Amino acid sequence: MIDNTIKDVAREIVSATTKVVALTGAGISAESGIPTFRDKGGLWEKYDPMEFAHISSFKAHPEKSWKMLLELIEPLNKAKPNPGHLGLAELEKMGILTTIITQNIDGLHQEAGNTDVIEFHGNNRYVVCLSCGKRYKFNEISIETLPPKCECSGILKPDAVFFGEPIPSHALNRAYEVSGNCKAMLVVGTSAVVYPAASMPEFAKTKGAIIIEINPEKTPLTLKISDYFVKGSAGEIIPLIVKEVKNLIN
Ligand code: NAD
Repeated sequence: MIDNTIKDVAREIVSATTKVVALTGAGISAESGIPTFRDKGGLWEKYDPMEFAHISSFKAHPEKSWKMLLELIEPLNKAKPNPGHLGLAELEKMGILTTIITQNIDGLHQEAGNTDVIEFHGNNRYVVCLSCGKRYKFNEISIETLPPKCECSGILKPDAVFFGEPIPSHALNRAYEVSGNCKAMLVVGTSAVVYPAASMPEFAKTKGAIIIEINPEKTPLTLKISDYFVKGSAGEIIPLIVKEVKNLIN
């Protein structure tokens, strides 16, 4: 049964070549050892996001926020791409997948080799100065004294979008543009409850795209929006799809 779904999905992807995009969420990085937010054992069970990741608490107590953030950032920055990320990179190399819209802040799609990644929530591998806006790589700054400071003495903040901060407008505009122009969208490892990211599959569908969802659990999209629901983990399912796509095009 799953074999037939994989074959159907691979055919859809091949027929949409050069017009395929992916929307990814925390689930695609779960097999890289990064816990998701909403699953059991996820980050929200351990930390109150309003305390460590709300922009007003960060501004009020940057040192306290940084102590908690370091516990999150260091393992996040050490994680490596898994077969799910690598499969999406292979689809780009094959000239099939053009763009990834991701809610993740871990930089693993870029590390896997994808070159056009729209980051809705920024990227934890960088920090930004709250005073002058200068960006640094996380591993280039000193964290011996917290909070870390910019050369202008401003406070540095991870360049991820905190609660209470807007989605960067360039990311939002491009995400709507690529969603509106695609013929197939792979929706991988997102619970599809965080807006506006969750509205991208709906928007793509209204413009005629096929929606292919890969997730071990159903989501609000599954019955309403998704044309295909492939039940399983990204690291297991994406390589099977890539293999089938290769069979079709070779
Ligand atoms: P979420 O935590 O709300 O949902 C995770 C989804 O992934 C669930 O639907 C779950 O069933 C699915 N999933 C779990 N394991 C999977 C696997 N192996 N393969 C495929 N799917 C799997 O995540 P979300 O929808 O991305 O929204 C949460 C927010 O959390 C995002 O805004 C994101 O910025 C942030 N976040 C990012 C990271 C990261 O950068 N890796 C990690 C945690 C949270």
